[in-house]
Amino acid sequence: MTKQFDVIVIGAGPAGYVAAIRCAQLGLNTACVDQWLDKADKPSLGGTCLNAGCIPSKALLESSELYEQARHGLGSHGIKVEGVDVDLAAMMARKDKIVADLTEGIAALFKANGVTAFTGHGKLLPKRQVEITAGDSDATELLAAEHVILAPGSIAADIATVPLQADIVVDSAGALEFTKVPKRLGIIGAGVIGLELGSVWRRLDSQVILLEAQDSFLPIADEQIAREALRQFSAQGLDIRLRARVVSSEIKDNQVTIEYQDDAGTHSETVDKLIVAVGRRPHTHGLFAKETGLLLDEWGVVHVDEHCGTNLPGVYAIGDAVRGPMLAHKGSHEGVMVAERIAGQESQVNYDTIPSVIYTLPEIAWIGKTEQALKTAGEDYRVGQFPFAASGRARAAGHTTGLVKILADAATDRLLGVHMMGPHCSELIAEAGIAMELGASSEDLAMTTFAHPTLSESFHEAALAVSGRALHIAQAKRRR
Ligand code: FAD
Ligand code: NAD
Repeated sequence: MTKQFDVIVIGAGPAGYVAAIRCAQLGLNTACVDQWLDKADKPSLGGTCLNAGCIPSKALLESSELYEQARHGLGSHGIKVEGVDVDLAAMMARKDKIVADLTEGIAALFKANGVTAFTGHGKLLPKRQVEITAGDSDATELLAAEHVILAPGSIAADIATVPLQADIVVDSAGALEFTKVPKRLGIIGAGVIGLELGSVWRRLDSQVILLEAQDSFLPIADEQIAREALRQFSAQGLDIRLRARVVSSEIKDNQVTIEYQDDAGTHSETVDKLIVAVGRRPHTHGLFAKETGLLLDEWGVVHVDEHCGTNLPGVYAIGDAVRGPMLAHKGSHEGVMVAERIAGQESQVNYDTIPSVIYTLPEIAWIGKTEQALKTAGEDYRVGQFPFAASGRARAAGHTTGLVKILADAATDRLLGVHMMGPHCSELIAEAGIAMELGASSEDLAMTTFAHPTLSESFHEAALAVSGRALHIAQAKRRR
């Protein structure tokens, strides 16, 4: 018998589970189908983000940074520490416990909100029916709804020259599960995952080599920040090689030899583990029956309009499977928008104010347009920047690397972009997000009182610097 719902969500990552909860809050009878199983084959809600992405990577970034601080960061505070060592099994167990607690938390939220959870693979059929296949069995269950939200997320992209090989050539999920610190670690791709996971394993004493195909480093970030970040990461010991095109890989005696080409010719490196981190692609395999006519683009991205409606009436798609940045908070925001639109509200997502963060040390965070994008578009803008080296709080904390940079419209003074590198920028960027969402100008920020001594004062000083009146750095004279 077909079970009837108001809304069926396929996928319980941060896009899908948030959509399901919001639908239920709005009084819609909601089902959510998810296929993720943990190591013990138990359902584990939360998708990539909770199980093998944002959360476990941040747990390891935190632990590995504490190790680095204990060894190298405390002496300057007059704190002597001896015999610091890593218990990798305990570090991994802590990470697994955090993941388990949070995924169980989603199950509890489903219960509290009245979302019906189904475990198994969901497939969209014509007329907004969804067929669920559980595990390897042939048994299926049929659901139907007025509205279906597709939130299948993404999977790691692969490259033909470097096939994955259990435990030795791995994707990001495998790189969160190493049982031994690799002596030499290769990473293909110096993007967000390469830098975050490279940082984790470097801090734990791996010698890390990143092979990046592009000739510029972090082209998605502001050029000035990317240049400074490359300098910082290289000084930390991340061996980042640009313009490196991997042509082959071979596994022998539990090691991988990678051959790659750059402007200087062909080179080879032998490493103990290799992480392939060359981007992610939508997870649409088996998601829908052909007869539905669901439209995808040539990359497998589900085609949607500005409100996440697909080409099929009553069918929506959100999160990593659709256009836009592959970020958890972007997917969640789309989930809320779609749920509220189903309930008859006029919700929107402001795609211009989605923050991006790279959780390295220093952290990199930005929102809005980069300076290079403004230049290319021929927009007239003013720049204000302030280095953390001039911040009393950053000095007290011993984290003086980096800066805050504000780009403001030359005519209206409205913020167009904010770029940061430095301590706690993942948190500081929220201030810029609120300011941009409310249409603030640099003058609005200049008029705001910030507590002293805080890192936020650097944001204030950067706003003052837009009109040449930063107080704690000497600026070339502009208007006063
Ligand atoms: P997912 O989280 O991928 O969830 C989709 C869910 O749907 C999965 O459980 C999947 O099994 C299930 N599913 C798929 N198809 C079906 C089907 N047919 N039937 C049933 N279930 C199905 N983003 C950030 O914003 N901040 C970070 O710090 C961050 N760190 C990351 C670190 C790593 C190592 C990785 C890999 C990613 C990271 N991301 C981060 C990206 C973030 O994880 C994704 O943007 C986010 O998880 C996407 O959410 P989603 O709900 O669209 O998809
Ligand atoms: P990415 O796009 O950030 O980086 C991939 C890198 O690999 C790029 O620099 C690309 O030029 C390079 N590359 C591609 N093919 C290559 C090849 N054959 N040889 C060498 N280099 C190659 O993707 P990612 O790091 O895999 O992360 C995937 C997604 O997950 C990202 O879109 C990101 O938004 C998301 N993510 C976000 C966070 C965060 O928000 N902090 C953390 C991790 C992942």
